[in-house]
Amino acid sequence: MIKACPKKGQRNMERNHPMTSDPQWDAAAVEQAVAQLSSLRPAYAHIIGFYGPVFVAQARALKRTDPGAIDIDEALLAMKSSQGFSLVEPSAFKVDLPAAEDLLTRICHIAVQSGEKLGSTGEALIRAMGDGEAMDMLLTDVLLERRRIKALAKTMDAPLEMLSLLLYLAVKPSLQAGARQLASRLDGSQKNRGSCPICGSQPIIGELDGDGRQWMHCGWCWHRWPVKRIACLFCSRRERASVEYLYSDDEPEYRVNLCRACKRYLKVVDTRKMDRGFYPPLEQVASLHLDMLAAQKGYSHAVASTISTVE
Ligand SMILES: [Zn+2]
Ligand SMILES: [Zn+2]
Repeated sequence: MIKACPKKGQRNMERNHPMTSDPQWDAAAVEQAVAQLSSLRPAYAHIIGFYGPVFVAQARALKRTDPGAIDIDEALLAMKSSQGFSLVEPSAFKVDLPAAEDLLTRICHIAVQSGEKLGSTGEALIRAMGDGEAMDMLLTDVLLERRRIKALAKTMDAPLEMLSLLLYLAVKPSLQAGARQLASRLDGSQKNRGSCPICGSQPIIGELDGDGRQWMHCGWCWHRWPVKRIACLFCSRRERASVEYLYSDDEPEYRVNLCRACKRYLKVVDTRKMDRGFYPPLEQVASLHLDMLAAQKGYSHAVASTISTVE
């Protein structure tokens, strides 16, 4: 049962945070996290049945992914970092096309084996690849405007959001590799941002680590950055009265922060209250009931989710 939580005394984390990127996950560790969460959340069998194998395939692909250096002017990079601007636009990322194409094929086969709606899109995409459709242009389009993806969705008679989702999942290791490349270029002025210091996208999920420090995870490149535990990260509210918290005794590791001022919400996972490894994309898709609850209450997420298309 989910209920609103009274304001809790929370430590204000004022200490300096390291500007490290996301911890590295190998495929075996992802597989283990997927198995653990599958047994905890039988209601998510369908969703984890698709995303679980996809996340494992992405972790394997990441090891082979080398998109090359992102083109950016050194002086501009230094200026952006020191002034607290995000370093690049999402369209600046490079895609390792052979690796992304291999992964796309794998993801399409996983989609075919899973849900009906996503399965037919996976099938259509496999057919399009067999017919010689130029996947490299489509994979690049995920970063830019989606004109060609829209055209293909029409030709294939497939839902655009599902086609975009499959393509995005295939380029994600390239985005992660790009974010890792740039993470070392960030300096301390990039702390406490409400958007990703690398690409400027919104956080998709928050994390409290073993020491109670709070981190955000980017919904686009999955960079991880530290933030202080202020009431609302999006409108920078500090008064806790403006924020309502949802939590459940059945899932003590999850909390949803609802900001009454800006009507946005953020899911935060307290890793001190769970026995499994915290793999952010997995926790994100295995807590969609919280997104639905927040939406019912009239709150919206900073990241438009295409995840519900799997259901
Ligand atoms: Zn990002
Ligand atoms: Zn707010």
